[in-house]
Amino acid sequence: MLHPSTDIIMNAQQFFAADQSEANLVKLLHAVSVMLQEGAEVLIPTADNAPEGQLLLQTQTTESGLEYMTAYSSKEAYEQGEPCNVISRPLLNYFEAILQMDGIAGIIFNPASPAPFNIQNRMIKELLADAKKNKQQNAISVWRGDITTLDCDAIVNAANSTLLGGGGVDGAIHRAAGPQLLEECKTLGGCPTGAAKITYGYNLPASYIIHTVGPIYNGKVEQRLELADCYKNSLDLARKHHLHSIAFPAISTGAYAYPVDEAARIALLTCTEWINANADYGMSVVLTCFNNGVYNAYLELVKKAQNGELD
Ligand code: ADP
Repeated sequence: MLHPSTDIIMNAQQFFAADQSEANLVKLLHAVSVMLQEGAEVLIPTADNAPEGQLLLQTQTTESGLEYMTAYSSKEAYEQGEPCNVISRPLLNYFEAILQMDGIAGIIFNPASPAPFNIQNRMIKELLADAKKNKQQNAISVWRGDITTLDCDAIVNAANSTLLGGGGVDGAIHRAAGPQLLEECKTLGGCPTGAAKITYGYNLPASYIIHTVGPIYNGKVEQRLELADCYKNSLDLARKHHLHSIAFPAISTGAYAYPVDEAARIALLTCTEWINANADYGMSVVLTCFNNGVYNAYLELVKKAQNGELD
């Protein structure tokens, strides 16, 4: 939770109705910080006097002569005002843009509501820094669903050594990312088992794809190391590219037939070890499960880990 400094609260209070309590302002700031963390979009009023082909955003000038950008936090808030053209953008991107604008003092939220809320650039900077810090916390979570839908810095592909596409999660990632992914993969020259290579995410919500090649299960003990290398090398590569959130499928547990319980154990232990060894960096790891077998295996392991029984 963000703790705004008192002088910023006072500035905001002077600008708005005198009855806005400090507690209410803190609540509003917290709501904005949650919007940032959740990647929420805002509606931004555009000016209709823009020259042909250009986009101009509406601003409002306060009595003291300061110019502010404006935004509606929801459709309901927008409907309280006169109809106008709006564009929808992630609040985080809008905040970053506002800080680059010359002569703009901050933002007014919901300008048509009975209690508009103003945030000055200094607080916008604090809110952005806070959102970034929260994003960079260490975490490992287990999530059931389709990895191609995840909006994280990178998703990992359980690819084959050609890196030219295949079935399972590989096929799903190529379909969702679009044909440009294959074009980039063709330039990579394949990938040995246990290694990792990176591409852009193209049409995926994730910015990057880290391609790794799991072992084709044959029961030999050294395969444990190869599977662990897939996780470790993917995490190292993510860090090298300054990425802070990554989602893995259960590598090798599909067509490559690695026993699920052992694969899940290697995944969880390797990611835990990596996070412990990189504790100051901040990496959020999501272990995705596409079927019940993998999900149940992870849940069992998490229970054991909570009881201190995992070694
Ligand atoms: P491998 O060849 O490494 O075994 P597969 O793609 O056959 O790779 O399977 C790896 C794991 O990915 C399996 O547990 C499979 O259920 C899972 N999987 C398949 N599609 C998806 C998806 N869209 N999202 C997340 N996991 C998936």
